Amino acid sequence: MPLFKVENLTYFYPESKEAALKDISLEISEGEFVLVAGGSGSGKSSLARVLAGLIPDFYGGRIGGKASFQGREIRTMDRRMLAREVGMVFQDPEKQIVQTHVEAEIAFGLENLGLDNEVMLRRVAEVISFMDLEQIRCVFTANLSGGQKQKLALASVLAMQPRVLVLDEPTSQLDPVSAEDILNLVKRLNEEMGFTVIMIEQRLERCYHLADRVLLMKKGSIACDGSAREVARKTIKGCTSFVPPVARFFAGMNVPSVPLTVKEGRKLLRSCLKDIKPALERQPGLHPVSYTH
Ligand code: ADP
Ligand code: MG
Repeated sequence: MPLFKVENLTYFYPESKEAALKDISLEISEGEFVLVAGGSGSGKSSLARVLAGLIPDFYGGRIGGKASFQGREIRTMDRRMLAREVGMVFQDPEKQIVQTHVEAEIAFGLENLGLDNEVMLRRVAEVISFMDLEQIRCVFTANLSGGQKQKLALASVLAMQPRVLVLDEPTSQLDPVSAEDILNLVKRLNEEMGFTVIMIEQRLERCYHLADRVLLMKKGSIACDGSAREVARKTIKGCTSFVPPVARFFAGMNVPSVPLTVKEGRKLLRSCLKDIKPALERQPGLHPVSYTH
């Protein structure tokens, strides 16, 4: 059984005449790392909110079709039970953080789950150690940097030990180093700890190759769904803004495959140069530059 099953889902926000999600059908299996890409307003956050049970409960509006988690319709699930299974990290950690101290913030979600004190303290300690937050354990949340706030938001969700992480542009407020830090952590959570990850991201160059699967959204619908390489290959001609820059660079060239990382691009370039070198050498007056990297 898939973890999530969405069937013909259409959703309108209150008082909106245009559907934010249009006839979406998809399945997500346990352990997958799904990257959700697409333009602004294409429905990425709305889809994430459906999976985390916030739409329609929290946002209201009209919904058609069905979204289920482990065979149970999400709408009818007990909120606490769903929060134990599906954790959501929002784009802006400022909006997620409600407590004044780091430790209290991590404990906050656990209190809401109704866990007893001993379990709570243990979970807080575990997540602080796992996420390397020891040094900021007693710091005021208001004094944290953007990267630390995002890490804290993720820590608070992890403390609830969900099975699924839904991340809505978790690096959008961060500098490149903190962004890399968060993305590496998410990758580890998926690969080493088995979390199912559904991540919306704009920085495709940093995470496209990390995903098992890419969902490309357009105007509330799924325009393309497949492995990262498949989606890159299919979309490279039409909408190159949703493939990594290195793939875009090779888009117009007649190369046998689409590279997803700089490393792959370099390898491809090297093999292409090897192929054309003899031809260049046969041309009088042309001396190809050596390419050693
Ligand atoms: P994305 O995350 O891809 O930028 P969204 O899911 O946020 O897209 O938005 C999809 C559509 O729903 C857009 O037309 C947007 O204006 C609308 N929308 C998003 N959030 C709300 C909201 N809280 N209330 C009303 N309309 C919204
Ligand atoms: Mg969004």
